[in-house]
Amino acid sequence: MAISRLLIANRGEIAVRVQRAARELGMHTIQVHSAADADSLAVRMADETVNIGPPSAAKSYLNAAAILDAARKTGAEAVHPGYGFLSENAAFADAVEAMGLVFVGPRGDTIRTMGDKAAARSAAQKAGVPVVPGSEGKVDDLAEARRLAEAISYPVMVKASAGGGGRGIRVVDAPAALEAAYDQATAEAKAAFGDGGLYLEKFIPRARHIEVQVLGDGVDAVHFYERECSLQRRRQKIWEEAPAIVLTPAIRERLCNSAVALAKSVGYRGAGTLEYLYDDQSGDFYFIEMNTRIQVEHPVTEMITGVDLVREMLRIAGGEPLRLTQNDIGLRGHAIEARINAEDPDRDFRPSPGVVTGLHIPGGPGTRFDTLLYAGYAVSPFYDSLLGKLIVWDHSRESALPRLRRALDELKIEGIATTTSLHRRLVEAPDVAAGAFHTRWLEQWLAADKAERTR
Ligand code: ADP
Ligand code: ADP
Ligand code: MG
Repeated sequence: MAISRLLIANRGEIAVRVQRAARELGMHTIQVHSAADADSLAVRMADETVNIGPPSAAKSYLNAAAILDAARKTGAEAVHPGYGFLSENAAFADAVEAMGLVFVGPRGDTIRTMGDKAAARSAAQKAGVPVVPGSEGKVDDLAEARRLAEAISYPVMVKASAGGGGRGIRVVDAPAALEAAYDQATAEAKAAFGDGGLYLEKFIPRARHIEVQVLGDGVDAVHFYERECSLQRRRQKIWEEAPAIVLTPAIRERLCNSAVALAKSVGYRGAGTLEYLYDDQSGDFYFIEMNTRIQVEHPVTEMITGVDLVREMLRIAGGEPLRLTQNDIGLRGHAIEARINAEDPDRDFRPSPGVVTGLHIPGGPGTRFDTLLYAGYAVSPFYDSLLGKLIVWDHSRESALPRLRRALDELKIEGIATTTSLHRRLVEAPDVAAGAFHTRWLEQWLAADKAERTR
């Protein structure tokens, strides 16, 4: 029973991306939107649209009742949640399926296990996948956190089990700082996710963030190799690549196989990503979390494997088994993605919503721009600042870098400040050219750069 009417419960570039895949599969697209998004590209592209509420996300894109109501009224057969918003909300997935519709993603119980970070750590340990030393499940109170932190030894990280998007996380260097970090992380997670539960991990200061893309059909699972996402600011990714140049073929195989083993152990259905920290000195890797949804940076994987991941997740949601075996999935060339945000890198990344008065989108060989923009569009202050993702591919990393520089030079977004200028400088940075970075490299580089500029 292939899906013929798809409701997209998201906004922005991912709503556009999902519509493209849906249309290629011949589906009728139903785009829900807030009052602030009535003029969005996703709304303009859709076959049918439904206004689900006022601008605030809590009243629109997080309003499960309004979205389910829209699905009922429009006769949708399936709901694609995109990323963020309700994409990792198990109760929402259950509610969609309880109405007799398909949730394009894993089953609610899988989200409960793998979307809760403390529970996912346990599942990883059970599947024989190494995790960062830390607590067994959540910590009950500050006293337990103190005991555990001593046992693990400082520095430690206090992390919200329900966290995401870099929120609900604090690094603690010494015992005196634990209480404040504990309180802040709980409060932040409660506000953002309605759940203040915390767990502890050893803080690994010079790790790389390397993650593995998987696709499962509920029975079998395959991987699509890894992405290198170490260039981060405030624990949010800014620049991603595939593959990770630091992995040897043997380590790549062990890492990717561990991700498949874990996905299979929970009967994973849909697209998912297993995130790891990687120590490039020792070659050790540690599972940190699973994102039970399509991710922002999925295009770099599509570029090196030639597989449309969103199309495959829609086919699986329609009841088809995986059509690729592991041997069918090859790795070719190198891809880099630069996240273009409506933020001003010269003003501490202050959000810069406003009207895009002029737009030129780069083209040419190996160049892709997944965006929500059109000329004249007013970037809304209500949602996250991602405007688009500039993705380049070429046969090698050495030739992909100048291609990215060229594409960044072509990209023109007029009227608002964007992070394009940051990426232009990153492309020129010797450490970036050499691939010599870790998860805190970008923040250190930004601090040094700021000191240099204000001297
Ligand atoms: P990715 O690896 O796909 O970038 P992120 O964790 O950075 O994953 O999240 C992608 C988007 O989803 C961001 O806009 C982020 O703010 C949002 N997000 C992530 N987790 C949650 C969550 N649990 N609830 C709400 N929004 C989230
Ligand atoms: P989120 O759900 O917000 O994405 P993650 O658990 O994936 O949270 O962590 C976000 C980022 O924080 C990671 O990409 C990494 O840079 C850093 N991080 C997470 N855990 C650790 C750790 N134990 N040691 C060092 N850095 C970490
Ligand atoms: Mg993460």
